[in-house]
Amino acid sequence: MFNTEEHWTDHAICRGADPDLFFPIGYSAELLQEQQAEAKAICANCPVVSDCLTWALRVGEPDGVWGGTTPEERRHLRRSPEAPVRHRLPVISVRDEHETASAA
Ligand code: SF4
Repeated sequence: MFNTEEHWTDHAICRGADPDLFFPIGYSAELLQEQQAEAKAICANCPVVSDCLTWALRVGEPDGVWGGTTPEERRHLRRSPEAPVRHRLPVISVRDEHETASAA
């Protein structure tokens, strides 16, 4: 679908959208559902919805709307036998200059 220089996120239609839409914080269950529905409506028209959902399932993304799903929906999907194998994201630690110099 994409050339080798491209990544699926290059085609995400949520790029530039209000992040609060995709990471909603509802002050009531009703408001939260409305915000999630709004984000999911955008996902429904996204050409990379499948790639996005697969990625979110693989890394175990715990928050936000990804690939047209809520965190609860992804938890349910992860329990299915067809769910992609989960790979946690690597932990990157950053040392400051003083720490690196004193270790040498
Ligand atoms: S599926 Fe939704 S969250 Fe994923 S890239 Fe597309 S619009 Fe963004």
